[in-house]
Order: sequence, then structure tokens, then C-alpha cells
Amino acid sequence: MDGMGDSLADRLAEVSAKIEAAVHRSGRSASDVTLVAVSKTHPASVVLGALGAGQTIFGENKVQEAEWKRPEVGAGEWHLIGHLQSNKARKAVKVFDVIESVDSLELAQRLERICAEEGVERLPVYVQVDLAGEVTKTGATEDELPAIIDYVKSCSRLELKGLMTIPPYIEDVEKVRPFFRRLRELRDRLVPGGGLSMGMSHDFEAAVEEGSTLVRVGTAIFGEREYREEG
Ligand SMILES: *Cc1c(COP(=O)(O)O)cnc(C)c1O
Repeated sequence: MDGMGDSLADRLAEVSAKIEAAVHRSGRSASDVTLVAVSKTHPASVVLGALGAGQTIFGENKVQEAEWKRPEVGAGEWHLIGHLQSNKARKAVKVFDVIESVDSLELAQRLERICAEEGVERLPVYVQVDLAGEVTKTGATEDELPAIIDYVKSCSRLELKGLMTIPPYIEDVEKVRPFFRRLRELRDRLVPGGGLSMGMSHDFEAAVEEGSTLVRVGTAIFGEREYREEG
């Protein structure tokens, strides 16, 4: 990381400036891209610091972690960005404002049913796509995508916001770019006008150039994570 001596506010400003420059290169305006600060593994005190610096949207990959952290922070919009096990879906509906990791028809059906049972009128979701076919990654395959999207479009509680992907980690960002382009093509075909959640610390500028509307940035804002998250 460059700028390790910088404050959280400095790093946030730096990421925002890079997003702004990239979004202009893509011929769009800054308001077209939303920054989700990925706060997983970082304590509530650190998230409060980000909130104080003006960052209001946070991403967590575990239901349990957000369950204790969110009340301690007390504000903000919280996105689930990690794989959701079916037995944690009810808690997730209660804890999160947006679920970016809907990766199966069964999960979408379960979330719709739980929203009805819990009186949640509206739950914005992204369908996560696995473009690399790696066994370690989660996400629906391209083949599974149309059925999931048709179903979510038919839901009364789930609101389809767009597509999300986690590309493979490749040092050379130019080699990641084709994954971003592929997700954009799928979006254009299956969710016209929808959003694209793509881009992390090391590749968010390329993702924005390729049309990302929502970047999920952790390390570049908060520094290295305090412990490893297990699979
Ligand atoms: C951890 C995580 C991020 C943020 O990764 P960084 O490289 O720290 O920016 C983004 N998206 C998902 C799904 C993650 O799990």
C-alpha cells in the first residue's frame, strides 16, 4: 500500500478521487458510481472513523459480524457481499439493507419468502455471477443466470438492482478487464439499465472504466485486514 502513514480520511479521499478520474474516462459522472467501504474484519471503532469522514455505505461478508458491528456503528447502509448460507438468510434480511450475493434460485426464493414473513417490503439485491468457474468462488453460472433473474424480476419484495462479480485475482489488471466487460455484456442483455457491482482495491479503476456502478473497496481504505477471513 502506498500512503500507509495517511489517515483513514486521506485514504478515502484518495480512493474517491481515483473513482472520479476513472468515471470521467468512462464518459460518465461521479454520481454514477457508489463506493462501498468493505469493513470486514475491522472493528466498529474503525467504521465509525469512516462514517465521521463521510463514508456511509459499508460492506460485510459475514452475517454474524455485521450483526454485532452494525448496532455498534449505529448508522449507515449495510451491504452483504459474501456467500449467504440458507440457514442465515433470515438474519441477513434483518441485518442488511442490500444483498449483493444472491447466487442461486433457491436463495432468491428463500429471501422473498422471508421478506414476506418478516414484513420487509423491499430488499434490493444483486445476482452474483461466477465468470471464472473457479471452485473456490461463489456465484451463479452464466447458464443459471436467466432463471434467477426472471424469478427476481417477478418478486414483489426482492428488487433486482443488477449483477455482481468477483473476478479471479490477477496481478495484471488488464487481464481482469475482460471479466468486467463480460459482466457488462450480461447486464446489457439480461438486466438492461441495471447496476454493476464490480471492482476491489487492486482493480476498481479498471472496473469503473468498464462501467461499474458500485465498487467494493476494503484494503485501499482500511489497510490490511486484521485477520484472515476463512473461506
Ligand atoms: C473483501 C472483499 C472485497 C474488498 O477487497 P479489497 O481487496 O480489500 O478491496 C470486495 N468484495 C468482496 C466480495 C469481498 O469479499
